[in-house]
Parts: sequence; structure tokens; C-alpha cells
Amino acid sequence: MTSFNDLGLNPALLTAVTAGKYTQPTPIQAQAIPPVIEGRDLLGIAQTGTGKTAAFALPILHRLAAANRRPAPKTCRALVLSPTRELASQIAEKFRAYGRDMKLSVAVVFGGVGMNPQVQALGRGVDVLVATPGRLIDHMQQGTLRLDAVETVVLDEADQMLDLGFVHAIKRISQALPKQRQSLFFSATMPQNIAQLAAGFLKDPVRVEVTPAATTVERIDQNVIFVEAERKRALLLEIMANPDITRALVFTRTKHGADKVARHLGTGNVPAAAIHGNKSQSQRERALADFKAGRIRVLVATDIAARGIDVTGVSHVVNFELPNVPESYVHRIGRTARAGKDGMAISLCSQDERAYLRDIEKVTRQRIPSTDRRGDEKLAAATAAEPRGENRPQQQRPHGHGQHRGHGGHRSEGQRHGSGARSEGGQRSEGGQNRKPGGQRSGKPHRQGGQNRTPQGQNRSQHGSIH
Ligand code: AMP
Repeated sequence: MTSFNDLGLNPALLTAVTAGKYTQPTPIQAQAIPPVIEGRDLLGIAQTGTGKTAAFALPILHRLAAANRRPAPKTCRALVLSPTRELASQIAEKFRAYGRDMKLSVAVVFGGVGMNPQVQALGRGVDVLVATPGRLIDHMQQGTLRLDAVETVVLDEADQMLDLGFVHAIKRISQALPKQRQSLFFSATMPQNIAQLAAGFLKDPVRVEVTPAATTVERIDQNVIFVEAERKRALLLEIMANPDITRALVFTRTKHGADKVARHLGTGNVPAAAIHGNKSQSQRERALADFKAGRIRVLVATDIAARGIDVTGVSHVVNFELPNVPESYVHRIGRTARAGKDGMAISLCSQDERAYLRDIEKVTRQRIPSTDRRGDEKLAAATAAEPRGENRPQQQRPHGHGQHRGHGGHRSEGQRHGSGARSEGGQRSEGGQNRKPGGQRSGKPHRQGGQNRTPQGQNRSQHGSIH
């Protein structure tokens, strides 16, 4: 079996890696580190949780230290592009941790925070810059950063980048990069549009593919509970009474839904916080820090906000609502099985989400064991006892445009007007990913034969809108 010592890494990196309690490289690290040290381009098909950050950070730090030149003012030597602020911060943290015994500078730039400290950091020149695409372009336009000295560039989570509408931003950034460079490209999935983007970005890359979706999924104990939509909150509180749930991530489809669920948990004496794109950067950071430190047991998140978040020791993932994109299910439940640990995933499924469940089972090639709690009197009583106003179905907001997507008209986070990426990184939704059951993509409302009503007799398109 490969050990870190076999990979040819700088001794300073080996000390940092051992201090980080990594005993052995993960498969992507074992396969990617040697060719990247040699200067090859890389196409990595891997999702978060596989150790892919170290797979690019370690050889990049190695090469930067070996070449040992100072970055010129307003330039960076290695550039890492990340789709979201959270992921960008985490990548920068890892670079700092692995490079702690090296004299290399690391900076991170993303939207939603002031430009000035970033301008100052870039002014001196940095060895490693981690950035979200929108803010990076802001800096390029203001002349506070040039990309002509980039030696290595990483495009991380390319599939998320495209889903978030960053395709033009990425093309623009690519054009500003020197032709002579090393390029690394990572994506969890490789549909045709991503493969095309990769082909334009890479030269004769080494291809490394690890942990296909189904393998990750197999390691997680999964369960579906069938329940009426309006009784999900009561069921969630009941689930959280289990002391085995030490650290849980709860997923909702909308930001508004995340806030409501977090509030409801609070009223049931389960300390929880919500994180999503409408929260300020400091609110998001505080919620994450509280969750990591164990001050709150539950973090309620939307798909986008949780993307790439690396919190170890998540014992349970609860899908309060099923995602309308089956791949998101894999991403979500993968939060509970980081770096070889197993976890538990519970999905609450109402009648109008059955088609989503079928899609998930098809994509992950498995049948998820289920429990039926419909018509449960205990949940009915708990729901009836909820504070007034909480147990009503969500009303459509006036700015919902009446353009419903997928089934149920649920639109996910950030799906606002028009298109085009927002510079903060990660605030747009699964744009263009709305799928009909059966895996087709569609922006049109989809109805399943005669089933477009909720158990309450409400037209499903009344549920959820954007907030
Ligand atoms: P990533 O896929 O880069 O988000 O990494 C997922 C998690 O695995 C992070 O918490 C890393 O710190 C951890 N990790 C990365 N490499 C290793 C390794 N070789 N051994 C143990 N844990 C690792």
C-alpha cells in the first residue's frame, strides 16, 4: 500500500500531513500527487470527502517551494477557483495547514466582504490565491490582480461551477491565464458539457477517477420515512430526540424552509442554526463554527450553502425535503461519510416527493429501506399542538413569477430573475438543473398524472417559492 513517504513530497509537507493525523494517502492522493509534482495536467473525477483538496494542495505547495521565487506584486503563483465562499475558506485553511512549515503566502478572496483587505493582500503578491470566480474578476477589472504569472491553476468542483452559472466567468479567467501553465480540473461528475470545458482547459492530462457515487452511498446506512408534508416538523423533533444523533445536518430545498425548520427545532429545545445564501458571511461563519465546536447539534442548510462544507463527525444527515436533482442526494448524504467513516442518512418523503425518490433510487442504483409513518396519530397530535402559523403550508410569495419548476414548484436557493453568475460565489441555485422524474432536465412545470395535489388538497405549485 502506498504511504505518504512514497510520493516524493517535500519533508516539510510530510511533517504537516502526519501532524494532521493522516496515516496514509487516500486513493486520489496516491494517484494524483506524483504526476502533479512532475508538472502534468490532471483531470480528477472525485467528490468532496475523497481527500481531493490535499491531492492538489500538497503537490502545488511542493512545486512552489521547489521553484522558490517570490511572487511579483499583484500576482499569484498558484490560483485555485472554488464555487462557494465556504469551500474557498476551507481550501485556504488546508493550504495554510499543510504549508505551515514553508514560507509561502496564502490569500483567499470572495464576495460579500470588503475589497480593501483583499486588495492589500494581493498588492504584495501571493504564492497561493483561492478565489470565487466573481470576486476574482472584480479584482482583475480593478487592476488589483493580474493572472499572467500563474504557474498552476486549479478548477475545483467544476460541475458546481457550471450549475451556479459561472461558465462565462471561467472562460474569461482562462483567457487571462498564461498559455504555459499547469492546470488541474476536478469534478464529481463528468457530463458532456463538463468534459468539453475540461478539454479546453487541460493539455494531455492524467485522468484519475475515484469513488463513484454508488460506492459512497453504499457505506451509509439509509432510510426513507413516508410522512405527510405538514407532519415533517413533528417527525424531525421526534428523530432528534435520539441521543445517538450527536451532530446532524438537515437539508431543505429553500432558504425560507431552512429558517423555518431551524426555528421549529429551537422551539422544541433542539439548538439549531440555519445557513444559506441570504445570511451574511459572519452569520454563516458563526453558525459553522458553533456546529463544528458542538455548541449546536443541528445545522439546517440548503444544498448550495452546504456545498463542500467539511465538518467531520456528522453522525446523521436528514433530508427534510428530498432534492429534485438526484446527484444532490449523493452530495448531501456524503457529508456523513467523510474520509472513510460511515454515517446515517434519513429522508423524509411526502407524497409529492415520490418521483424524486424514484429518481434517486435509479441514479444510485439501490432501493432505500423505508418506514411508513403516514396516518400516525402521535405525529398528528404533535402537529396539532404546534404554534399557530408554523403548521401551515408555505404560501407563494408575490415575486415568485408564477413560473414553477420541477414538480411541486419548489425552486431552489438563489433561482431568481434572469441568469448570470453573482460575484459572491455560490449564491445561485441549481440553475438549469431542474429535472423531470426519469432524469430529463426541464424548466417547465411537470405534473405527474393527476397527482399534482398535496395531501391537503393544495395545488402543489403553491408550495415554496424563492426567498
Ligand atoms: P476533501 O475531499 O479534500 O474535502 O477531504 C475530506 C476530509 O478528509 C477532510 O476532512 C480532510 O482533512 C480529510 N483527509 C484528507 N486526506 C486524508 C488522509 N490521507 N487521511 C485521512 N483524512 C484525510
